[in-house]
Amino acid sequence: MLSTYTKLLRLSQGQLNLLEACPRKFQHTYLEQLNTPSNPQQEEKQTLGSRFHLLMQQQEMGLPIQSFLEADAQLQSWMAGFANAAPEILTPFIDNQTFRESEHYRTLQVQNYLLTVIYDLLIADRQQAQILDWKTYPQPPTRSKLEKNWQTRLYMFVLAETSEYSPEQISMTYWFVQSQGQPQSIKFSYDASQHKKTAKRLNQLLSQLSNWLELYQKDELFPQVPEAQKALCNNCQFAVRCARSQRGVRGASRREAHRSQVTEEAIANSLPNLDNIQEIAL
Ligand code: SF4
Repeated sequence: MLSTYTKLLRLSQGQLNLLEACPRKFQHTYLEQLNTPSNPQQEEKQTLGSRFHLLMQQQEMGLPIQSFLEADAQLQSWMAGFANAAPEILTPFIDNQTFRESEHYRTLQVQNYLLTVIYDLLIADRQQAQILDWKTYPQPPTRSKLEKNWQTRLYMFVLAETSEYSPEQISMTYWFVQSQGQPQSIKFSYDASQHKKTAKRLNQLLSQLSNWLELYQKDELFPQVPEAQKALCNNCQFAVRCARSQRGVRGASRREAHRSQVTEEAIANSLPNLDNIQEIAL
């Protein structure tokens, strides 16, 4: 049982996504930090995405952004497209009844976990609370994929649990600033039945995680995706380590991922730092 833990473990939507997709991948990625380094192209895209987020934050705080725009044609074009598609967000009507904050941070404890969300922008008034999120990659995912993503589920869940707003007053909108043509938005509404469903799934997943962490400290590995779904392993960087590689396994014993000493402290420290402004990959 996780009652042996004394520390709350911080979890983000990215970790929930990975845990649901493949618990073993969660183990390799977060507990053992075996991620392969990203390539320069990916890094460049991530940097540009982070800069756009920073720019949007500065704009929201009323700080000057012109010099940044002049220095970067890509940012300038995204910002111009966004200003055209959603002027009400960039140049809002300001009144004292509306709360607006960029990079709005919230946490919620569920079981022994501290669920952490950072909204790119939160706009709230007497009637409703809107969560907004910026994405800078070109191809938006399908609506149904986005709906199932833990970012959508967790972001609205945490707001409903930590505010006076009922689920029906909450929405989440993604803005894809680099979509073909002009920026596109995908909006999700929320209700009590979705909230109940998310609570149930979240509690299930966290109970499973507690159990797997307990076993992991006794040298048991997290479960892999079932054999029947092992097609999912084809593009996974851990396929050899998991003995799921089509190229065969050389020297990858089941205990290759053996930890020298798995302690509660090590597990807590292995979960990533959420402080930096970064675009969240879906
Ligand atoms: S290879 Fe398959 S089982 Fe192993 S981490 Fe990747 S997806 Fe999971």
